[in-house]
Amino acid sequence: MDPKLREQAIAAKGFMPLDEGDALYAAAESVGALGPLLEVGTYCGKSAVYLGAAAKASGSTLFTVDHHRGSEENQSGWEHHDTSLIDAETGRMDTLPAFRKTIEAAGLEDVVVAIVGAATTVAKSWSTPLAMLFIDGGHGVEPARADYENWTPKVMPGGLLVVHDVFTDPRDGGQAPHDEIYRPALAGGRFGEVHEMSCGSLRVLRRATWP
Ligand code: SAH
Ligand code: MG
Repeated sequence: MDPKLREQAIAAKGFMPLDEGDALYAAAESVGALGPLLEVGTYCGKSAVYLGAAAKASGSTLFTVDHHRGSEENQSGWEHHDTSLIDAETGRMDTLPAFRKTIEAAGLEDVVVAIVGAATTVAKSWSTPLAMLFIDGGHGVEPARADYENWTPKVMPGGLLVVHDVFTDPRDGGQAPHDEIYRPALAGGRFGEVHEMSCGSLRVLRRATWP
């Protein structure tokens, strides 16, 4: 990865440890030549810098979907609440301005496309097969289940499904990405884990090339 972009990704506000960011980049870069990359859960664009850098290196495009109003866990009173992300006029959370600054500073505006909307709404009209789908949206049971059902069928055969915040042990974190996305994807037989590409809570699965 371009060292300057990597520094910018590390400095950006967000929830992506260094080693997992490097793994995210490597996975995306390996399949970018096959088609577009799509991320569910943009937040302030930290993971989008890793993915955007990979898109740039492989001739791909990153589409990143978020309503920019935050997940349950980002709202006031929750552990991950950040008051600098509140719109002063409306009092509502809005991560879109921070995202635009992140991508502008990284010089990735030509390869990173923001889609502002609810993941379920966007999925209804999305039909382009994806070289890679990165799911890091709402971590409650309902949103995780919806992302699995709505988005995973859009990964092309041979493409990657990457899931963040997958914790086998409930003491390490919430279980929805594990129970509602990672496990069902493996159990369905359509995906197999690429163990050498996974890192920590970032799990990399490949879609089978047979029907
Ligand atoms: N990938 C980011 C972190 C994403 S945090 C990073 O690594 O930096 C999760 C994001 O998912 C939040 O910004 C929240 O607004 C978004 N989100 C949660 N539920 C959503 C939904 N149903 N539709 C669209 N975005 C959603
Ligand atoms: Mg995450």
